[in-house]
This record gives sequence, structure tokens and C-alpha cells, in this order.
Amino acid sequence: MYKKLFIPGPTHVDDEILEAMAIPMIGHRDTLYSDLHGEVVPKLKKFLNTTGHVYLSASSSTGMMEGSVRNVVNKKVLMTDCGAFSKRWAQIAEFNGKDMDVIKVEMGQAITPEMVDDYLSKGGFDAVCITHNETSTGVLNPLEEIGELIKEKYPDVLILVDAVSSMAGTDIKVDDWGLDVVLAGTQKAFALPPGLCVVTVSEAALERSASVENKGYYFNFEVLEKYAVKNQTPATPAISLINALNVQMDRIIEEGVENRFQRHNDMAEFVQGWTKKNFDLYSDEKYLSPTVTNVHNTRGIDVVELNAELAKRGAMLSNGYGALKGKCFRIAHMGDLQVADVKWLTEQIDEILGL
Ligand SMILES: *Cc1c(COP(=O)(O)O)cnc(C)c1O
Repeated sequence: MYKKLFIPGPTHVDDEILEAMAIPMIGHRDTLYSDLHGEVVPKLKKFLNTTGHVYLSASSSTGMMEGSVRNVVNKKVLMTDCGAFSKRWAQIAEFNGKDMDVIKVEMGQAITPEMVDDYLSKGGFDAVCITHNETSTGVLNPLEEIGELIKEKYPDVLILVDAVSSMAGTDIKVDDWGLDVVLAGTQKAFALPPGLCVVTVSEAALERSASVENKGYYFNFEVLEKYAVKNQTPATPAISLINALNVQMDRIIEEGVENRFQRHNDMAEFVQGWTKKNFDLYSDEKYLSPTVTNVHNTRGIDVVELNAELAKRGAMLSNGYGALKGKCFRIAHMGDLQVADVKWLTEQIDEILGL
């Protein structure tokens, strides 16, 4: 039986989006494709507040995380480890032989502008990677403040952002905040099936890419740009997903961008309230995520058993990540889920646990 997903990716997909995937196939060098590409990209630029470049990558987000590091890091990159996904980015840099330093905080804590300033002031860096919303801990890092700091004090340092679980769930002002690369897969707050990654690339990042060697072909910004100006992609794009994304952008515009972000805040507030009443919040309350809540399992309930019971009622949540398995569980509230959905979920949990 299918379950309604309250896990932080893939997220629940509405029927209208599933239907938008079921189009007759079109050739990717046909004008039908470039018309579609040329429709969706401007919508994304407006949504993300950027006049820079936007590329569509047929890959999961991890592919573009690797690609972005390979495109812009010449000297040394600063990694900011606050959980599993930011740790993955550091691993990617390591596996690609990039020189790096890593700021590390405990899971549940945020990366602050002061920490970034401390490291960058030592000099020698040409890029910094930030995970906007650390999905493993439910922490939203202060991206605007970090972006402003780098823009003002370290204009030559490029800022790369993993916005995988925040983009389309909370506002991101790419240009104003001085962000050079911002990427997200569609299976999180965009509420599409997996397989497509959206990335914004600034002029500075594209210029940097021209000076970096051995950046491969598939995620090469220069190659992507060469095709983007023709409303195409170098390799076969994920056409069905791009059609669904185009439909989803229209639905987002129809809902109202501000309303969409408010709905995420409302869902987060509800789940946080429920968590405080029945368990405890694990992560720093100053930086709570609008898209996923990390519940501290203070009652020591069996999370696997809870999920088995929820499955019988047609729902699924996530266990704690890595070291937090069993110690925490996570409720995602992103994409096209509504406040009524998270209310329903917590009612099921209340009944199952007798809360
Ligand atoms: C899910 C997620 C990823 C990995 O995305 P894939 O599409 O599985 O590659 C990376 N970063 C964050 C913050 C995520 O939530």
C-alpha cells in the first residue's frame, strides 16, 4: 500500500503533478522542448530572485553538489559541517582532491556568520559551501547573514549553497544575498518525483569555471551555458520532470509565493508545538527549519514500531539520521503538504502512542 510521505524526500506528490509527467515524449532538439525549457527557466529565475543563469540537470542533487565543487574550487574550499548532508559535501571535495578546511559543529547546531568569518579571515580560500537547511537535524542556517558577510568582506570567495530541502519551501534571494551557486533536487520542497536538479549560477561562478581545469563534462558550467542559451541541455534532459516542474511553477504562482512560504511556516509551527507538548525539540530553537522537524525522542519510543503502525494508517515519517537514529525522529512538512495533513499525522501518532 502506498503511504503519504512525511519524510524529507522524496515528498508527497499531488496527482496533478503525476499527470503532468504523463505527456507524449518529445525530441530534446525539437522546438517543442526548447519552448518548454524557455518557459520554465524564467519562472525559476523570478522565483529565486536572480538574473543569473539557471540550469536543469538530469541528476540527483548530489551530482550537482559534486559538479559545483569541481567548477569553482581552484585553491581551497571552506566546508561547514553541521550534519549528514554538509558532511557529504566535505567528502565530495575530499574525493575530488580539493584542498579544504572544515568548520564542524555538533548535530543540531547552526553555522554562524562569525564562524565563517573566523575561518575566511585566515585567507587562502576561493569558495565556501553552505547547507541552507540541514535535513538531518532540522536546522536552517542563517544564509542571508552569511551571504551578506561574504559579499562585503570576501568578495573573491564564491558561495555555494545546498538548498535541496529549503528551495521552494522558504524564500531565497539569490542575487541580493550574493549567492553564486544554489542547487536543489525536485523531490523535496518542489514536491516533484526525483531525478531533476535546479541550479543557479552567477556570472562570477561561470567566469571562475573557465579558469578551473579537470571539471569534467556532465556538470561543466561552460558546457551547460553553451546549450542553455539555446534553451537546451548538453545531454538528454529529464523531459517528463521538466514538464511537471513547469506545471508546478504555475501552481506555485497561483498559490502565491508568500502564501507558499507562510504555509510552510504554519506547518512547522504546528509540528514544533506538538513536539514541545509531547517530546522535545532536538535542535537549536533559534534556527528551526520550516520544512523538517527533528523530534527528540525523550519518551524512548520505538521509532521503527511507530512507523510500522503509521504504515497501516497510510503514512510514513523518518527515523533520526545516522547517530541520531532512535534518539530522534523527523517529520517533514514541505512541498504540497497542508497544515491539515500534519495535523492528521500527529493525531495518528497521538492515538498510536496513547498521548
Ligand atoms: C536530500 C538532500 C541531499 C541529497 O539529495 P539527492 O537528490 O539524494 O542527491 C543533499 N542535501 C540535502 C540538504 C538534502 O536534504
